[in-house]
Amino acid sequence: MNPDPARHASRLRIVLVGTQHPGNIGSAARALKTMGLARLVLVAPEKSPNAESSALAAGADDVLDAAAVYPDLAAAVADCRLVLGCTARSRRVQLEELLPREAASRAVAEAAAGAEVALVFGRERTGLDNHELQLCHAAVHIPANPDYSSLNLAAAVQVLAYELRLALLDDAGPTGQAEPRDPPAAHDEMEGLFAHLSQTLEQIDFHKGRAPESAMRKLRRMFLRARLDQREVRLLHGILADAERMAMLAGRR
Ligand code: SAH
Repeated sequence: MNPDPARHASRLRIVLVGTQHPGNIGSAARALKTMGLARLVLVAPEKSPNAESSALAAGADDVLDAAAVYPDLAAAVADCRLVLGCTARSRRVQLEELLPREAASRAVAEAAAGAEVALVFGRERTGLDNHELQLCHAAVHIPANPDYSSLNLAAAVQVLAYELRLALLDDAGPTGQAEPRDPPAAHDEMEGLFAHLSQTLEQIDFHKGRAPESAMRKLRRMFLRARLDQREVRLLHGILADAERMAMLAGRR
């Protein structure tokens, strides 16, 4: 059984600062829930969540209803060991700037280590102010069109929530795979496979007079790129052995 991808999600909170449109709060709740996240935090929203929020939450009312509300950002992230601030404008601040993917992998690594983590989003009109950005350990910028880089608030939340989802799934190990992976094949196991492959190619007369080196170089590159595990190497040995047996039978005929 793979570990539950959501097991660290409970330490990840999405903080919306000073949101102006209640609809965006609902859309953000939906964005979180689709990605298996549940902790929405509101800092001094201009209007409290209303019917429009619920309509846009579209079934994510549980996330919306559970949203905690704080008077300021410092209070909302007081217990966090990592605070990442999402900004629509690149390089505006004297902060390390991360891509969403880097931010998500750092966030999940911290959460996996037991820390509370916040991803912070600013106001629709003006984003996060300088004081709020100074509370952040790093900035996150979605590398959008530089001439039109400001996403709708809930759309930006969706992009980050998706990256968090991928990082959580990655942390939980390969999913949807029927069998757990064997240990990766070691160098000498790969060399054993290449020796067998080379011998089989001779026996089935694959090269037809051409020098075997070029094909072997390509095959080596291909199999090394695939990062085979031990079971996969055994499977290939089995196929090669059968090919050799068939070649021998054909030769006898
Ligand atoms: N006019 C504002 C835009 C705010 S958009 C400004 O220039 O700052 C509302 C929020 O969505 C932003 O504060 C930010 O948290 C998030 N956001 C929008 N586009 C983003 C982008 N390209 N990268 C990261 N966050 C973004």
